[in-house]
Amino acid sequence: MPYKRITLPFAYEALEPFMDAETVKVHYEGHHKGYETKLNAAIEGKNLTKDYPTLIDLMKNYQNVEDPAIRVSIREFGGGLINHNFLWESLKLNTQIDHDSELYKEIIKTWGTFDKFKEEFLSDVLTLFGSGWVWLVKRKNGGLKIIKTFNQDNPWFLGFTPIIGIDLWEHSYYLKHRGNRAAYLADFWNVVNWKFAEEQYLK
Ligand code: MN
Repeated sequence: MPYKRITLPFAYEALEPFMDAETVKVHYEGHHKGYETKLNAAIEGKNLTKDYPTLIDLMKNYQNVEDPAIRVSIREFGGGLINHNFLWESLKLNTQIDHDSELYKEIIKTWGTFDKFKEEFLSDVLTLFGSGWVWLVKRKNGGLKIIKTFNQDNPWFLGFTPIIGIDLWEHSYYLKHRGNRAAYLADFWNVVNWKFAEEQYLK
């Protein structure tokens, strides 16, 4: 398969009690694997890796792919594949943001306080209608922004660099949190890998 899922970088139970092992397992072995399988089935024989060697290349340029049906598959299944590759890499139990980091300074510059940033993030998490993601992204000029994306749309094809992303498809939180997105986000803050986020900001 030309475009692959990452190997889960931790054990299913590594993010307990904030993200439960069963959810991680179903999410990675079920949903994430499904996006990988369906993307690769849709593009079979198309030799897309010649022009787009990586999944990020493919996402950034998917509008240039000629066949409209393939474009939809890349947007939906390719989006699901890349979003979850990012997600797993961006999670780690109990890390803290470094107050001397460029990312922290930019958050304070943009929102005034870290709590204000988290408030705005929560507001977008609560108001995203249907399935999608909320992201903290870096713009081309280095500034920060919180964005919502629907379905498996993502920062790469919108021209942003993702820093943090929370999956708001019910499959990612319903087993543990039922319909309570605020509780899901409160737990999510305990599994954000801030070291990884700081590195993304420097990209
Ligand atoms: Mn998901």
